[in-house]
Amino acid sequence: MDIPPTGRLAPSPTGAQHVGNARTFLIAWLAVRQAGGQVLLRIEDIDSPRVKPDAAQQAIEDLRWLGLDWDEAPVVQTNRLALYENALARLREAELVYPCTCTRSDVERAASAPHAEHAGPAYPRTCVARRSADAANLDGKVFSWRFRLPVTIPEFDDRFLGKTTVDLHRDEGDFVVWKSAHAPAYQLAVVVDDALGGVTEVVRGDDLVPSTPRQLLLYDALGWTPPRFAHVPLVVGPDGRRLAKRHGDTRLATLRRQGLKAESLLGLLAWSCGWIARMRPVAACELIPLFRWETIPHHPLVLTPELLDSALRLQV
Ligand SMILES: [Zn+2]
Repeated sequence: MDIPPTGRLAPSPTGAQHVGNARTFLIAWLAVRQAGGQVLLRIEDIDSPRVKPDAAQQAIEDLRWLGLDWDEAPVVQTNRLALYENALARLREAELVYPCTCTRSDVERAASAPHAEHAGPAYPRTCVARRSADAANLDGKVFSWRFRLPVTIPEFDDRFLGKTTVDLHRDEGDFVVWKSAHAPAYQLAVVVDDALGGVTEVVRGDDLVPSTPRQLLLYDALGWTPPRFAHVPLVVGPDGRRLAKRHGDTRLATLRRQGLKAESLLGLLAWSCGWIARMRPVAACELIPLFRWETIPHHPLVLTPELLDSALRLQV
């Protein structure tokens, strides 16, 4: 018999949760609940300069409003620095990371290869010859820790996308696992949290596909079993770009104030995933038996004002 999965919802309080986040959270929650598994909630608040006050509480209220629940007290990343430091120490001892004193403009100047607009240039390995003990002899310079990429980057079998490869040597190169003195990078914190939480199933937006091979390298380096990954399409505006302010206010808190009922939004989302044939109000728990991976379209959901309006008009 299969062991029930453990999944997680991981809102980032760097901004308000919007319709796109809601769709991904719904898919993540249903996948685990249908299989009789546990759901964890984690507040990803280590990106401190961008974290907005009250956004964590707001995210929790948004999830509750949607009818999504979780089984343990929320994990808050800023309370877990010691765990991340411990993982970094293990990577240092194994000489899998090295201290890098390059600034962003150093990297841009030194990188000659053309690079994807979103990713920035691949790190040119200026500091790769350093040993981890060299961190003590950097004359007080600010430094980050970078993970030394192996020649072969792991391929992974995405539950939604199938076999997936990312050329990390072109896309960032040796990646940052620790940003500065007390600032773990997202990649390391997420791996520590998921591994220690016993997470077996990660469902998230497909903008995070390039993170997955990095995280798989960290799982391997730290001797942990990785979860299964599923990356689902994002919600975009009519211009095909990722949902943002320019597409109007699609924040859940705002829509709620405008009178949108959670069941109406869930109706729109469930219809967009092919779980119900026509848009109608539906509760999150009613969707548990209806959830299917196979019916979720492989293209982004285009959220037009008309579509949002039709949800607003649904009678609950
Ligand atoms: Zn460097």
